[in-house]
Amino acid sequence: MKAFRLVGSGNTALVDVEQPSPGPGQVAIQIGSASFCHSDLELLHLPDNVPGIPLPVTLGHEMAGWIGAVGDGVRGWEVGRPVAVYIIQGCGWCRACEAGLDNVCEQGVIHTPGVHYDGGVAEWMVVDARRIVPLDGVDVRTAAPLTDAGLTAYHAVEWIRARLEPGVTVLVLGVGGLGHLALQIVAAISAARIVAVDVDPAKVDLAKRLGAEAAFVSGADTAEAIRDVNGGRPVDVVLDFAGVQATVDLGTDVIARNGMMVITGMGGGQVPLIHGFGGPARRVPQETPVVTSFAGNRADLYRVLDLARRGLIHVETTAFALTDAPKAFAALAAGEVLGRAVINP
Ligand SMILES: [Zn+2]
Ligand SMILES: [Zn+2]
Repeated sequence: MKAFRLVGSGNTALVDVEQPSPGPGQVAIQIGSASFCHSDLELLHLPDNVPGIPLPVTLGHEMAGWIGAVGDGVRGWEVGRPVAVYIIQGCGWCRACEAGLDNVCEQGVIHTPGVHYDGGVAEWMVVDARRIVPLDGVDVRTAAPLTDAGLTAYHAVEWIRARLEPGVTVLVLGVGGLGHLALQIVAAISAARIVAVDVDPAKVDLAKRLGAEAAFVSGADTAEAIRDVNGGRPVDVVLDFAGVQATVDLGTDVIARNGMMVITGMGGGQVPLIHGFGGPARRVPQETPVVTSFAGNRADLYRVLDLARRGLIHVETTAFALTDAPKAFAALAAGEVLGRAVINP
């Protein structure tokens, strides 16, 4: 079968490999969709000898497909069932993992397909049965991005869910793979007003199409523009899907006292959380929690799939054949893909 692999630092290749078969406790999945994520680009630029990342490795940590074979000891799953794959597998026995919160595994284990073992940009893959969830009614050919971009966006929204009363304003910073889904999730589960910001005019348009009441291309006067459309008031919630210094600063400038900031983008921006009368003027206001949100838990995946199943959210995708995976990856690197680049083998 064909597989798109990371073969060494900075190098990928579409290669022929042996079709994998499931061991005990595993299933083989015939891939219906797999998608690229920005973290695949970070993986590309890692050095060759990172412990736990064996090269070559088939890329792709977002995938969905049909069960094609079931290993010894696996019960409750039958061949032909459409499934998605939960992207993180923690240690499996700590208190967090036992509660299904693998994203905060106490051992820090984030065993992920397409990183630590062969992933989904291939015709087939093998995973532990413990990590699959039923798709049942979600389109297999477009479902892949829901398992990471969707999961992570849903988890970010979960932090603020109790705050989403009518009259509340949510600011979404970054309308890429995650932000465009978070925006739809907020619109689907609440009557909150949504304002969005991106550096790309096409993504600002996308935000408006998906339910943002106002959206702006970021610039010097963006904070003022946000307050203007919000009746002169600061916003109640910030969801930051970039997490770079510019978005963290913008969020800090427009968040209300007793608001909440959720930072999902791992852009390395530093949050000025200072409590006291002296020091810099730019700071998170009092009584405003700041959360760094990472991936999501199993319950989040079930919930985001349910929103998709009911047609309340959809992923903007650009589809590629598996043989065009190198082209799709290059387009991602060049920032030329609107929505998610999805591979359909
Ligand atoms: Zn990812
Ligand atoms: Zn654990």
